[in-house]
Amino acid sequence: MDRPARRKICLSLHAPFPSRTQPASPLQPLGQSLGEAGTPSAPLRWDLREERVLTLIDNGVSDVLILEAQDHLGGRVRTYRQEGVVVEEGAEWIHGGWRNPVYRVAVAIDGVDTPLPDDAFDWRVVTQDGAAADKSRYDVVETLRDTCERSDDVLLAYYGLAYGQCFLDKFSGEYGTGYDSPEGEGWLHYLEQIVNGEEGTESWLDIAAREADKYPDLGYDHQWKSGYDTLFQFYEAVIPASKIRLNSPVCRILWDEGDDKVLLVTQSGDSYLASHVIFTASFGHLKERHTNIFEPPLPESFSVHFGHMDLGVSNKIQLGWTNPWWGSKPLDLDIIWTSQDLPLDRLWLYDIVNVASVHSDPNVLQMFIMGKDSKNMENLPAETVLEHVMYLLKRITLQDIPQPDFFHRTSWYNNPWTRGAYETYITLWGDHQGLKGHDPITVPLKNSQGRQVLMWAGEHTHSTRYGTVDGAYDTGEREGYRLLDILKPGRIV
Ligand SMILES: Cc1cc2nc3c(=O)[nH]c(=O)nc-3n(C[C@H](O)[C@H](O)[C@H](O)COP(=O)(O)OP(=O)(O)OC[C@H]3O[C@@H](n4cnc5c(N)ncnc54)[C@H](O)[C@@H]3O)c2cc1C
Repeated sequence: MDRPARRKICLSLHAPFPSRTQPASPLQPLGQSLGEAGTPSAPLRWDLREERVLTLIDNGVSDVLILEAQDHLGGRVRTYRQEGVVVEEGAEWIHGGWRNPVYRVAVAIDGVDTPLPDDAFDWRVVTQDGAAADKSRYDVVETLRDTCERSDDVLLAYYGLAYGQCFLDKFSGEYGTGYDSPEGEGWLHYLEQIVNGEEGTESWLDIAAREADKYPDLGYDHQWKSGYDTLFQFYEAVIPASKIRLNSPVCRILWDEGDDKVLLVTQSGDSYLASHVIFTASFGHLKERHTNIFEPPLPESFSVHFGHMDLGVSNKIQLGWTNPWWGSKPLDLDIIWTSQDLPLDRLWLYDIVNVASVHSDPNVLQMFIMGKDSKNMENLPAETVLEHVMYLLKRITLQDIPQPDFFHRTSWYNNPWTRGAYETYITLWGDHQGLKGHDPITVPLKNSQGRQVLMWAGEHTHSTRYGTVDGAYDTGEREGYRLLDILKPGRIV
């Protein structure tokens, strides 16, 4: 089994980088051009790039190119298949219905599946030692989520404070007597982990309440019939293969060389001249590598905000059995940790509070793990992770569980092209520094001639739906239309 190492990237490029005096590959207009203005070269990368490129192609701009670092499209949408088992490494749910653009595409391509009702699951609530916990306490969790997460104005009083403070302030009143008992503290820990799972945070005190308050709820979740990658199979079918270059990490972007073109250099040393670039790497990659990538460096007024935001780290661990040992119904098992008496090397298990069957295969159980312990888990050998989670499963079910037939775990932090999972949020520190929204990192950068050459898309550039596929999709469309506007005949910038 594997032990993922952190890969070093973009090391093979040494100065001097290809410049205007060395041959680069100017993109030639392909197919139609855009009216009288012609079609400036516009290499594009994209978050939901497919949507942006479709927006452009649909509007007559065909001189576009996607440069993708990895050997597949989709980024944090990644379906994993092994001998008939289908699981999602990244995004899994389509949040909401018609208001969600991804839902609309999914319906159009007949990809949506109806989620199972709650009562289809075998719902259990147990302590770490397998004793039944009081299920009625789940109402406390739901009430507090209704109050702090779903109501309209409660969080206003917490602007300037951490999101988690709302829950902390109200927990004892809602729980009542025993809130500070081991079981009460177990429920508080459960609640925090559910909130961390929603936000992608390591601690609910990391994210500013003002930031959490922006996120609109689009309604009930939906699932994909045959994997989230159905979406990308659709895009691959409609976008010409010539417009996609896989295995092409962009290592350098020289965006103000004096001749109105942007020069991109990939890891293999290929270079491209473009009129406009839409940069859509994840916030984790951007934050870590912007000083290496951009020449000239990004303006301080722009990059200062990278210190005010973070990309959360979340991972999944999935185990499957041909014959489910827990029974015939899909399982949904909540863990209330009334004590933390774990062996030292297994302390990371404390962050797991739910084990549930996945929609695509009820015989596969999935656990989420967030934050620092998620990073720690990534650095453990796979067989150690398996040993630890089997220890946990046996302990919480008091059953002698057979070894699984299927095991998979993700490593979103060690992936240099993502450096995290979801969501990109404004930290409490960032809020205190005056950053109140994501807009400052979405502003296109102009070169010395005053032309908008560098644009930004990706979930982190959405003002409210950051951390979602639909948020990424919207920003792709936004930048596609921005570029179309710029390319209008007669436009100066
Ligand atoms: C575990 C997990 C669970 C999630 N669950 C959900 C969910 O249920 N529902 C939901 O809506 N969202 C969910 N999300 C979030 C969702 O997946 C992301 O918000 C969304 O996919 C982000 O899209 P993006 O295009 O902004 O970034 P990405 O998907 O990260 O795409 C960026 C692309 O840029 C490429 N790249 C990076 N650097 C370079 C470079 N230098 N040169 C060239 N290419 C580069 C990357 O390889 C990648 O393909 C989840 C994410 C994770 C990880």
